[in-house]
Amino acid sequence: MSEDVAKQAELVEVRPRIHAWVQPDGSWWLNNAGAITTAAGQLVVDTCATATRARRFLDALATATGQAPTLAVNTHQHGDHTYGNSLLPATTTLIGQEKMREGLRVDPIIDGCPPFWSPVPDWGDVRRRLPDLTITDALTVHLGDKRVELRHPGGPAHTTGDLIAWVPDERVLFTGDLVFAGLTPLVFMGSVPGALAAVDWLAGFEPEVVVPGHGPILTGAEIARVLDEHRRYYRLVLRAGANGIEQGLSPLEAARAVDLGEFAGWADAERIVLNLHRYYADQQGAELDLIAAFSDAVAYHGGPLPTYV
Ligand SMILES: [Zn+2]
Repeated sequence: MSEDVAKQAELVEVRPRIHAWVQPDGSWWLNNAGAITTAAGQLVVDTCATATRARRFLDALATATGQAPTLAVNTHQHGDHTYGNSLLPATTTLIGQEKMREGLRVDPIIDGCPPFWSPVPDWGDVRRRLPDLTITDALTVHLGDKRVELRHPGGPAHTTGDLIAWVPDERVLFTGDLVFAGLTPLVFMGSVPGALAAVDWLAGFEPEVVVPGHGPILTGAEIARVLDEHRRYYRLVLRAGANGIEQGLSPLEAARAVDLGEFAGWADAERIVLNLHRYYADQQGAELDLIAAFSDAVAYHGGPLPTYV
């Protein structure tokens, strides 16, 4: 993908006044965001990694809706979804899960990105902006008579502080990074079995439209297909991890021993290394070493990981 193509991003109205901001190709640091708008207010779901990308999203949203965000929610702590928070109006009330807020509070990457990616991302004119309001399990936002249900999956999944935004009237589900549509899922700051369990939890909403954290919008039969791919991928990680530990392999060695099969063509295949680091850490009751995990992912990839931010 050329850099120009990677800069394309699109505001899609998935249901009346419910928008998704989709940034191709959905790879490292290229997230999706969105918003729910009514006459009573606007709730933004996530921002973007850089000031330029966050401004592009918020400007497009303002043009399409003629409104400014009254509320915003971060689906999780990762910088692609949160570093642009400071581009929201100062008057916007920002919501996040309790652990998400703490994660962003201590996140060192916003102060300077380590050279695991190429080019090394430049966030631009952003500053750390933390949620004003935190929740643990559930909060319902009422935009006039439209409900938006913010829900936590009940335990670690993509991260420890995930939230989804569910619009029951329209059956639209913003999953954050509990779904990577057509790209390799990433759970190194969450839990492999937790992420697997979260797939069933997501399916239980019976959504008609899914706005994933990365990758294209899903509708109809695509939703079940993509959720099934996640189940199969997480089971592959669990098997590879169990085999690796049994055979005394390091996470990197275990990753190299995996035949990715149907997932070999997905972008960001090196996440198998990061996901195995999470599996190993949990099995061994240890803290995950982020620097070691990313160094191994770069070794698996054969160089710094490509990005377009
Ligand atoms: Zn994420």
